[in-house]
Amino acid sequence: MPRKYIFITGGVVSSLGKGLMLASIALLLEKKGFKIAMLKLDPYLNVDPGTMNPFEHGEVYVTDDGIETDLDLGHYYRYTHAPLSRASTATSGQVYDTVIKQERRGDYLGKTVQVIPHITEEIKKRIVHCGDQADAEVVLIEIGGTVGDIESLPFLEAIRQFRYERPNDCLNLHLTYVPYLKAAGEVKTKPTQHSVQTLRSIGIIPDMILCRSESALELPLKKKISLFCNVPTDCVFDAVDVETSIYEVPLKMQAQGIDNQICEKLGLEKRVADLSEWKKIIEKIKNPKGSVTIGIVGKYLQHKDAYKSVFEALTHGAVAEGYTLNLKTIESDKITSEKCLEGCDGFLIPGGFGERGWEGKILAARYCRENKIPFFGICLGLQVLIVEFARNVLGLTEANSTEIESQTNAPVISLLSEQEDVEDLGGTMRLGAYPCLLKEGSRVHQAYGTTTISERHRHRYEINNKYKKLAEEKGVTFSGVLENGNLCEIAEIDDHPWMIGVQFHPEFKSRPVEPHPLFHQFITAAIDGKNS
Ligand code: GLN
Repeated sequence: MPRKYIFITGGVVSSLGKGLMLASIALLLEKKGFKIAMLKLDPYLNVDPGTMNPFEHGEVYVTDDGIETDLDLGHYYRYTHAPLSRASTATSGQVYDTVIKQERRGDYLGKTVQVIPHITEEIKKRIVHCGDQADAEVVLIEIGGTVGDIESLPFLEAIRQFRYERPNDCLNLHLTYVPYLKAAGEVKTKPTQHSVQTLRSIGIIPDMILCRSESALELPLKKKISLFCNVPTDCVFDAVDVETSIYEVPLKMQAQGIDNQICEKLGLEKRVADLSEWKKIIEKIKNPKGSVTIGIVGKYLQHKDAYKSVFEALTHGAVAEGYTLNLKTIESDKITSEKCLEGCDGFLIPGGFGERGWEGKILAARYCRENKIPFFGICLGLQVLIVEFARNVLGLTEANSTEIESQTNAPVISLLSEQEDVEDLGGTMRLGAYPCLLKEGSRVHQAYGTTTISERHRHRYEINNKYKKLAEEKGVTFSGVLENGNLCEIAEIDDHPWMIGVQFHPEFKSRPVEPHPLFHQFITAAIDGKNS
């Protein structure tokens, strides 16, 4: 059976949830037993989103092989088991970079290098490569942006050509918005018609239209969309706003039979996708035993996607315990006193960069340590935990991270190149998966149930080993170290119900059906604290 390709494009407006929709469809195919791969094509010119402000772009998701990518790969991870790597993402920046380097090397033998065919060839190559890497039966590809954007044109042209070359093996899905106009008292299909017209004018004829709307579309409306957009009525699907959880989307899509339609159109064997695990999750979400409130102390909180994976991983932990998660977002630069922190069962300080809000985070860590409130520090959050402990327990009143104060006389967090006794690994970012050894009997060992783990990193600064012994004497257990023992990756406060910091980003590896052990243990501690 030749490999099959499913493309999704978006129309009318951005933020319709193409990534989530594609991940849901991917899950359905995976549950039918097909080997899948997923690829995100982003039209922007940045080579990767690593340097983009979270306000611009939301979270930067990191893969095992250390690639900084779009947050949609987080959805792909949470819904499926598609392998995610360098091959799962490409931006215009990367594509142009490759082509221009080839041009400089003289690979085009004096030819004029053009968007068509050279850029489009490179895009097509990456689609094939993604499937090859995963040895996939079905590759699902998301084209970022909205149809009609100038910058997505080369991608659309590439997928047009791709299908022309493989007419029986491709499927085009188009996700659009069908708004309800209050003034007219009607649902409007015109924007969808225009968006499909635009697609068709560049030679892409969608096979299925997914209509994002507030409520399900009635048959006459579906018939209208069908007629005007040249798509059979049974290929017009509702993508209704979900009531309780984004994890309902696969169930809603399965109920409409989209997975079987896809198999039919691509000539894939029709099998049943067993979503019983997912149904259980939704049942739990709909019938909670209680609620748990977690305070997130960060500085990009106005952007709802800046800590996307953290929010999701916390939700997974809460759902595993049958609880609803209440998130309380606390802007760290607004924390002036402990009053700002009242009313939470636990606190989490996520990753971050730079000085703004730093002291507020230290205050939050102190409040949690002294009041024995569960505290989870991730990456920068671990560094906060260490600095707070050094200042207020070790008596190093001026302790700091050199990221915040380069001349501090107690650099408890610093660049490796600034530390003595450690081999200089340079000042660049540590990215991607590293193995970590856990201390027997520690809380983290109990959580993971194993002593060797692998987690993903994205940071420059490290715990300074010079202060390790002193901290251990005063009540910190460094329960996770880099495999060679050189770097501390996890710190637990001994005399505390649950105060743990980790140098890596566990949030990237949590699924609703496989909650991350640390998030699960943290939430359990918060619930225990609340109920005690
Ligand atoms: N800014 C810190 C560092 O570079 C933490 C980074 C992060 O939290 N991702 O080490």
